[in-house]
Amino acid sequence: MELRVAHLYPGVMNLYGDRGNALALRTRAERRGIACTIIPVNIGDPFDPGAVDLLLIGGGQDREQRRIAPDLLQRGPAIREAVDAGLPALAVCGGYQLFGHRYIDHDGSIIPGIGVFDLETRHPGPIADRCIGDVVVETPFGEVVGFENHGGRTYLAPGQEPFGAVVAGFGNNAADRTEGARRGNAIGTYLHGSLLPKNPALADALILAALRRRYGDRVTLPPLDDVAALRAHEAARAAALRRARRPA
Ligand code: GLN
Repeated sequence: MELRVAHLYPGVMNLYGDRGNALALRTRAERRGIACTIIPVNIGDPFDPGAVDLLLIGGGQDREQRRIAPDLLQRGPAIREAVDAGLPALAVCGGYQLFGHRYIDHDGSIIPGIGVFDLETRHPGPIADRCIGDVVVETPFGEVVGFENHGGRTYLAPGQEPFGAVVAGFGNNAADRTEGARRGNAIGTYLHGSLLPKNPALADALILAALRRRYGDRVTLPPLDDVAALRAHEAARAAALRRARRPA
């Protein structure tokens, strides 16, 4: 089998090592004898979301989001159509924000998004505290850990499913205890880390969804020796819970 992963704007939307998500997917596929091709999609590159098995976009600072937004906007209808056809996707932080309807950034500029998720993000302004720290989220894929650093606060429209519920950390907006968003097999989240190397169950869920979509539901993934990944998971979890216990 083969896994074709499209990585959008890998050189620009790559805060806090989000490219580690692509490396984790490739490693976990290849350790099972599954070929994995990471396809970089840069500004202006031809790209058909219907011809890949999984889509990734990482985080970015406001100026980097402004830089890629016009190109992403053109790709919006094809990406939404592919997600509605079951394409698994992982959009992290700045990429997640632009998979919503819009991001009103730190100086009030409106950066349009592609509306995969029914949400919008509003930055409270340059003097507001950022949402920074280790995070634990309870999700349908089990407990997920990571690191967040965002100024924007994201608000889900009624009926928009979150990725999970915040156990420790800020999450979407430091108020409603939601974190991220889901639509079909597409996941949006604020969790950097990078996310997938320390959340092997989530990485495998994305790989399995991609392979079953292409090769049928009989596909299974043999377990891997995840001692190192789970050690990293526990370390991030402990850091987040320690912070949550500290008085504000
Ligand atoms: N620039 C966005 C914000 O500050 C996203 C940051 C990020 O991708 N870490 O909210």
